[in-house]
Amino acid sequence: MSQQPIHIPQPILDDLSKLPGFDSEAFVLAQGAAAETSVRLNPRKPTALFGQTASVPWCNAGRYLEKRPVFTLDPAYHAGAYYVQEASSMFLAEVTAFVRGEQTGLRVLDLCAAPGGKSTLLASVLDNDSLLVSNEVIRTRASILEENLTRWGYANTIVSCNDPRDFSRLEGYFDIIVVDAPCSGSGLFRKDRDALEQWSTDNVALCGQRQERILADVLPALKTGGCLVYATCSYSIREDEQILDWLGAEFGMESIRIPLHNDWSMREIATGRGLYGYKFLPGEIRGEGFFIAALRKTEATGTVKQVKFKSAHEKALLQKVPWFSCPEDMVLVKAETDTYSFMKAAHEADLYLMQKNLYLRKAGTRLGQPAHKEWIPAHDVALSIYALNKEIPHLDLDIEDALRFLKKEDFGAAVPDKGWHQIRYEGLGLGWVKSLGNRMNNYLPKHWRIRMELPDELVR
Ligand code: SAM
Repeated sequence: MSQQPIHIPQPILDDLSKLPGFDSEAFVLAQGAAAETSVRLNPRKPTALFGQTASVPWCNAGRYLEKRPVFTLDPAYHAGAYYVQEASSMFLAEVTAFVRGEQTGLRVLDLCAAPGGKSTLLASVLDNDSLLVSNEVIRTRASILEENLTRWGYANTIVSCNDPRDFSRLEGYFDIIVVDAPCSGSGLFRKDRDALEQWSTDNVALCGQRQERILADVLPALKTGGCLVYATCSYSIREDEQILDWLGAEFGMESIRIPLHNDWSMREIATGRGLYGYKFLPGEIRGEGFFIAALRKTEATGTVKQVKFKSAHEKALLQKVPWFSCPEDMVLVKAETDTYSFMKAAHEADLYLMQKNLYLRKAGTRLGQPAHKEWIPAHDVALSIYALNKEIPHLDLDIEDALRFLKKEDFGAAVPDKGWHQIRYEGLGLGWVKSLGNRMNNYLPKHWRIRMELPDELVR
């Protein structure tokens, strides 16, 4: 599908022309084509969806779609079976897998995480013993991030809402820090015409300064020998190559080169100081403009002191939740005022350290709260990978009823026996209803509700 040709600002073409063999005409032509649509599957929530579609070459779980469906009308999307993500940025999976190697139990920070594309990818690529701290400084965006991570369903995540400088309190704590930096956005011109209208060299310069500030603020939290992954969706040298050189000059950061397969066509670029990064140009790859680099910290760094604690595991409370079989290596702790969450026992110390130093929105997976005679389940546990295919009282809905549930409307399914029931669609959890015997109350959080009208014919 072709779109109107667009005028690419000359300074961008000037920057790109420094790349060997850059074909300006082909690049401008590609900018006139429609952006690719792609999704990334959740490996812990298997579905039969997208089985026949082409895979993204550098990400096993990535799929290209021939046309863009209305994702809002697919209950599997709301269940976290997949995430709609631009294909180039899925290269983070390859970078993380390479940097991680055989290591397990890592502490990983995604600093600029909303709406959650990189965080859901990291959760899938890291092992269960690793802890992902997903941070977003803007409060409204942090709630979208929280929602998307809840859908994804992993328990080894913490969502925080902090300024990058707050992380300097966690000196030398993280093994990997991902900075998917706010940038001038030229790589997304095909998807976002506003980015084109707002583009200016002044803004590129401002973005470059802000990127340096963010990086300088967060780097103390990276341990010596740890890895910084820096990414933008900008083509500008000021935001890509120059930032790498600045990291080399100011902090002695060294490049980690990522091995590329012969049939991938992103570019490996080398900066003036000999640091490496990877550029994705539409027309050369199936995806949008993207830049990513991995760098090793060489500077000596102190280490934050762990907090002393006694486990607050509320084992006895689990008897109130007979339908939830808590894995042996998990603890149930009061991570919020009234709500209990479960998480890896190995992450309990990290939770208290984070609580002391950061503003947390959520830690682990909320299981709910004890009431007089029952357990009120949290929405999160319905979407948890640990609640999948388990003998939880549940109600299977077809697509129409599932969408009506997601709209918080009445739906046709027969009312089950009294009590709590997990709503499922094709085996995937969507939320909770409480049956009163003659009717059901829908416990989907109000702000999760689909607002879109349902079409007469529901087609995926
Ligand atoms: N990583 C996200 C993903 O894959 O879905 C996209 C991140 S987006 C490119 C950059 C994020 O940085 C935005 O969510 C934005 O709110 C946040 N941001 C803006 N200004 C910031 C600042 N000064 N410090 C840290 N983050 C900032």
